[in-house]
Amino acid sequence: MKDKECIFCKIAAGEIPSATLYEDEDFRVILDLGPASKGHALILPKEHYRNLYDIDEETAAKAMKLARKMVKKMTDVLGCDGYNIVQNNEPCAGQTVFHFHMHLIPRYEGDHVGLSWPAGELTEEVKTEILEKMK
Ligand code: AMP
Ligand code: ZN
Repeated sequence: MKDKECIFCKIAAGEIPSATLYEDEDFRVILDLGPASKGHALILPKEHYRNLYDIDEETAAKAMKLARKMVKKMTDVLGCDGYNIVQNNEPCAGQTVFHFHMHLIPRYEGDHVGLSWPAGELTEEVKTEILEKMK
């Protein structure tokens, strides 16, 4: 299904031009317009899914396989030193475009990409609570 109002549906379908790195029948991979680092790309499925809660298992698996392929190729092309894969779900987690996408963020030694957080503490109470609820 496509969403007529969704900008990533239009980009994925080729209705809006994009800097396309790769395309197949299920996905388009484009350069992000507001890159965190040189070569920051987005994997967009051609079908519309709001995010990870909505996407089907098979397409999600294909997206991860494609991420692996892109990261290997782009590491050669860019000469980067590592990669982050980021995938935001819902506004509280930083999602701003509500069409599933995976960020492929090249990392370079000494870059200042901010993807870290202050480490908290796993208390016994919280650990027990979560493990109990997961049963
Ligand atoms: P998120 O915050 O995870 O929803 O990420 C949305 C990403 O889409 C951001 O990194 C934006 O820079 C990027 N973005 C938004 N509009 C476009 C566009 N038209 N073409 C390419 N990237 C875009
Ligand atoms: Zn869409």
